[in-house]
Amino acid sequence: MFALMQSSQVQSLHMTVDPATGLKAVIAIHSSRKGPALGGCRYLSYPTEQSAVEDAIQLARVMSYKAVLAGLSLGGGTAVILRTAHVPDRSALFESFARFVQTLDGRYIAAIDSGTSSADMDCIARYTQHVTSTTQVGDPSRHTAMGLYAGIRATAMARLGSENLEGLRVAIQGLGHVGYALAEQLHAAGAELLVSDLDSGKLQLAMEQLGAKPIAVEALLSTPCDILAPCGLGGILNSHSVAKLRCAAVAGGANNQLSCAVVADQLEARGILYAPDYVINSGGLIHIALQHQGQASGTITAHLAQIGKRLTEVFAHAQAEKRSPARVADALAERLLEID
Ligand code: NAD
Repeated sequence: MFALMQSSQVQSLHMTVDPATGLKAVIAIHSSRKGPALGGCRYLSYPTEQSAVEDAIQLARVMSYKAVLAGLSLGGGTAVILRTAHVPDRSALFESFARFVQTLDGRYIAAIDSGTSSADMDCIARYTQHVTSTTQVGDPSRHTAMGLYAGIRATAMARLGSENLEGLRVAIQGLGHVGYALAEQLHAAGAELLVSDLDSGKLQLAMEQLGAKPIAVEALLSTPCDILAPCGLGGILNSHSVAKLRCAAVAGGANNQLSCAVVADQLEARGILYAPDYVINSGGLIHIALQHQGQASGTITAHLAQIGKRLTEVFAHAQAEKRSPARVADALAERLLEID
């Protein structure tokens, strides 16, 4: 665990248990150098407790990189609450988690992520002010999807020579808060949607409302398409899955899509353009941060559109340096964070 903390340059790890509510949670803070560590709070089941802690550590690093590349005065952190089969009282669980967040005195600010909702953030807000994406503030997923949309246009331009999405085949893995909002925008732009989700209800909705074509979960990655948009969980791109891809580019919202850094080189070797996840999925974070500062919605929308420009710059550097965009983005973020 310490080795992973060191290699991920995570500053601190905080853990708690509360037998009364069944809470088992971890908060990883990667960096507070640029400001408080704002990051998602996940509520998921994991194969082992160790894998939950590893997820928190890896995501905390990503949040720092995301914030610094988006020019935000924030650090990076992530919380993971371990989900068990039986939860007697969900509100009590999140209130207990809130008291844990409060002990960090503002060094970590919680936000919605996989498995949590604005209602959960409302529970947290009863015991600490260090929380965002409450019902009052709103779910940032729509803004994440807006940034993704701008990023997909930039990716299409860089890889296919046009940012026009009409008729483009986009395969979306995961139709959750982000994936479904992205699907709606792509549909409006005339893209052809190929979609998969573990939840058949979401698939049905996408078929009925967006004319999407359902693809079996296990077949999505090898489905022929122009752009693959992973919007489920991370780690889906590994040596094995990259060999099966039949797309020109990968541009999606899931955090930590690459199972390890060398996968970026494998994508590059296969001629598949990779839009670094923490660059293309930064829309929600940008929205939360700027809204918190009281910026007007027009300013926030303009900032979201910059995601496409930022990606275009990363792609240009990558091409000039003959390196993967993922490695270029990492180097840029590390330089900005002054990590040696
Ligand atoms: P969500 O829990 O609402 O949706 C995830 C969806 O993916 C679910 O519908 C789930 O059934 C589906 N899914 C999971 N594994 C799958 C698989 N193997 N095949 C097909 N479908 C699968 O989560 P979300 O808020 O939409 O976030 C999705 C991803 O985007 C996560 O990795 C999250 O960390 C990342 N992200 C979210 C935001 C945000 O604003 N919510 C911001 C940045 C990054």
